[in-house]
This record gives sequence, C-alpha cells and structure tokens, in this order.
Amino acid sequence: MKLYKRVPIRLVSGKGSRVKDAEGREYIDVLAGIAVNSLGHCHPAVVEAVREQAGRLIHCSNFYATEPQAKLAELLVTQSGLGKIFFCNSGAEAAEGALKLARKWGSKNGRGGGVITMDGSFHGRTLATIMATGQPKYRDGFDPLPSGFQTVPFNDLEAVKKAVTKDTCAVMVEPVQGEGGVRPASREYLEGLRRFCDEAGILLIFDEVQCGMGRTGFLFAYQGYGVTPDIVTLAKALGGGVPIGAVLARESVAEVFQPGNHGTTFGGNPLATAAARAAVTALIEEKLPERAREMGDYLVSSLQEATRGMEVIADIRGRGLMVGVELTIDGKPVVEKMLEKGVLGNCTAGKVMRFVPPLNISKADLDEVVRVFVESLRETIDG
Ligand code: PLP
Repeated sequence: MKLYKRVPIRLVSGKGSRVKDAEGREYIDVLAGIAVNSLGHCHPAVVEAVREQAGRLIHCSNFYATEPQAKLAELLVTQSGLGKIFFCNSGAEAAEGALKLARKWGSKNGRGGGVITMDGSFHGRTLATIMATGQPKYRDGFDPLPSGFQTVPFNDLEAVKKAVTKDTCAVMVEPVQGEGGVRPASREYLEGLRRFCDEAGILLIFDEVQCGMGRTGFLFAYQGYGVTPDIVTLAKALGGGVPIGAVLARESVAEVFQPGNHGTTFGGNPLATAAARAAVTALIEEKLPERAREMGDYLVSSLQEATRGMEVIADIRGRGLMVGVELTIDGKPVVEKMLEKGVLGNCTAGKVMRFVPPLNISKADLDEVVRVFVESLRETIDG
C-alpha cells in the first residue's frame, strides 16, 4: 500500500551511527529509525541476546510466564519506581493500553472516560490514538471516530484546568513533543499538571514513546522533570530495534485491570523482551542517558554557532539528544540535500529539522552532521 513516501535508497546494513545502502554508500544516521536505534545499529549486546533467545524460545503465549519477560519487567519497574507493567508491540498499542487502563480506572472511581490531550501531540495511528493525537490531519477520512477526547493548547495549564469535567479520567501529554516539532514541556507546566491532577482526582499519563529510554538525558524523561506520572508509555528505543511497547503504571492504578480486561498475543514475548532487557541494560551500563545530556548540549551549541546570523533559523531547542531546529522555510529540500551528502536527516511538522541520533554517536559524526546540515541549508536558501 502506498503509505510511505520512500527515500530513493535501499539500506542493507548498519553499525553504530552508520548505515550502508545497496550500492555500498555509507550514511550517518541522525534519525536512528525515528528515535529507535538509541544504541546505534546492531549493538553487540542486543544482537547476542536475540541470537541466543532465538535458539531457545521465540514465542509461547501470555498464558505462560517466561524468564526474559519477568526480568525485563523487574528491571523497568525498579528503574521507574512505578509498580506494574504491561507489554505490547508498538507505541500506538502502548497509548491504547494506557487509555484503556485510564478509562477502566475512571469507571471504577466514579468518573467518565474523558481524556484531555495536547494540540500538536502524537500518540499513534489506531482509531483511539488518532483521536488522542492533537493533529486533525491524522483523523481525516476515518469517521466515525471514537468519542471522549478533547485537545487543548500545549504548555498551557489553565487550558487543562478549564477543560476538565466530572467525566474526565485522565490528562495525557508527551514531556517532549516529537512529531509535533520537538517541543519540550516546561517544568512548571508538568509540575502544575501533577498538582492539578492530584487535586482533581484524575490520572496523569506521560507518553514517553519517543522521548523516553535515555534520550532526554534521563532513563525516563519524567525523571529529568522531577514529576512522576501515574502511567507511562514506552516503545521505540525500548527494544534496541526489535518491536516492543510497554505501559508502566502505579500499582493502585494498574490493579483495576483484571484477567481478560486487556491483552495481546505477541506483547512481551521472549524474543522481544530478551532484546529489550539487553538494550535497557546497555543503556544503563554505558551511561547513555548522561551521554545524551552532554552530547545534546554539545549539539545545540554547535548548531547555534554554525547557524549564527542565519535568518531562516526560527529556534533551536530540545532536551538531551532530542533536538529540533525550527526553520522559517520548508525543511524537505534540506533533508534531500543532506541525503545526497551522506546524512539521513528528518524534518517534522513541516519546518522543524529533527536530530535524534544514537545516544552513543561520536563527536566527530555529530560535527559532520552539523556541517552537512548547514551546507544543505545554505544551498537550499541560495536555490
Ligand atoms: N507516541 C509517540 C510520542 C510517538 O512519537 C509515536 C510514534 O512516533 C507513537 C506514540 C506511536 O508509536 P508507533 O509508531 O510505534 O505506533
């Protein structure tokens, strides 16, 4: 189906922050599979875990407990401080799981199923998550749509306060909006949301599918804000490239789910959880959240330096190695020129160049990315 506008190259292999195409040309990958390959391509610990587990037990069913799933659950529950976890296969499924959990909790706590989300947000492509997503273009042509969703401006606490009614069960927000243009929430906003949700007796959900797993400088983005949500969704970098998603929740919230209320055939199967355990362990052991903080600062200052005085730069922002450069012009031609010069870049929300490289990318590769980006930008402006 013609669902993706493909870039005219065919990728065949990858190592670290570099990938090769079928012609043997090498590229620096600053998109990293859309913030998935945080450990770089084919990290040896993930490759080994997949090889080993594939020869032992690939899949059984969630009717049976397995060691890889139990060990990953223990690792994430311990690291997050949230009491319970559910495994699924993708970010959209994690968001769906979080929404269903919030609604079940609402139904048992005298509230309705209303959910408030943010303008510019992105939570996935299923029917419920396109409603949660604060970008109407994703809903176009998919009527009839699920009800009970309302979006309000991002980083605006008063707007949330006004929108909440007795039927609201949860507020869902990305600590750093990804697809919406790499927009970080402010600390005051998330602190205010936490206080307000507690007072109103509703749940706070953080979608960390894109900003989680070390990218913003902390294993969980909320740890960098000092604000703990009731429910967190994860996917993307969690599996080191193998598809897996997860919903973490406070124990008192998670307990509203009883056997049969929700589930999935593949979610948390031995192969995916063995890969994810290796990936999360490597992220922690190699101190990649800390490195993301350090390299993120370096990338932002390099970009500021290299673009000084250029009028097409509207803003440079981000947290850790989730960096956006907002342009005053369409970013697509810049991405195309970067590709010709050996860098896999990306533009989101029309004008925001998105830099989400592997967290272990070298300084030299980042320097090259900045050089290629600025050269491509200058050539685009000069026509
Ligand atoms: N939530 C956020 C914040 C995302 O960035 C994405 C994907 O970009 C999703 C959910 C959906 O994830 P997936 O594409 O794995 O379904």
